[in-house]
Amino acid sequence: MRKALVVGNWKMNGVRSDATDLAAAIKTGFEDNGAEIAVCVPSVYFSEIGSLLAGSSILLGSQNVAEHDSGAYTGEISAKMLNDFNCHFAIVGHSERRSYYNDSNESVARRYNQSLSQGITPILCVGETLEQRESNETFTVIDQQLDAVIDLAGIESFAKAVIAYEPVWAIGTGKVATDDQAQEVHAYIRNKLAQLDAGIAENMQILYGGSVKPGNATALFAMPDIDGGLIGGASLDGDAFLSIYQSTK
Ligand code: PEP
Repeated sequence: MRKALVVGNWKMNGVRSDATDLAAAIKTGFEDNGAEIAVCVPSVYFSEIGSLLAGSSILLGSQNVAEHDSGAYTGEISAKMLNDFNCHFAIVGHSERRSYYNDSNESVARRYNQSLSQGITPILCVGETLEQRESNETFTVIDQQLDAVIDLAGIESFAKAVIAYEPVWAIGTGKVATDDQAQEVHAYIRNKLAQLDAGIAENMQILYGGSVKPGNATALFAMPDIDGGLIGGASLDGDAFLSIYQSTK
């Protein structure tokens, strides 16, 4: 039986006091319902937020990881460095990384591998743009994004990974995919993996991301192939984030 998972992606928001206030509010208000929970915070605050969350079940995550092991890669943060801070998760291939920083499918696959090499669970983001959806390319895009990772890391690697389906047109726009639209793609992803390994597909946590709010989370998370959410904007409000967490089945 898959456990649900709710992950907050704080992105590049706020300053140190906002981060510590938010982490403290989440820690204080958290009531464990058996689902998993994590926050992917700006890396400069790993140490402080990690200490603040120590002893709770709220896991720490990174918003990205370098595609190389170490070396002259100015500004990048290696998986080994994430390990120093007990990062449990690393988001790879977020659409903002893909579109603003040109993270290609192959680069995302290497980041995924780096994350796994340190025992850090990659949260692999996939999803189509509005233009791609309107030209019926959604499944082709998802195939390309997943195939790059399958080719490099193998299907067995998915036993230690999480997938987040995030339609680009729904991220930060207030436009949420309908429950059926999201379920259709989640089921597609699970079936695709099942063709390679039924057991891995069945156990795969597939999160939905894109304008999830307290008001729409319950219906989305009730869909059979949606195992929780990757939450952007609403994760910056402790109460909203915890309410979304409590919407898990
Ligand atoms: C995200 O950035 O992963 C995301 C889902 O953002 P939002 O919830 O703000 O749409």
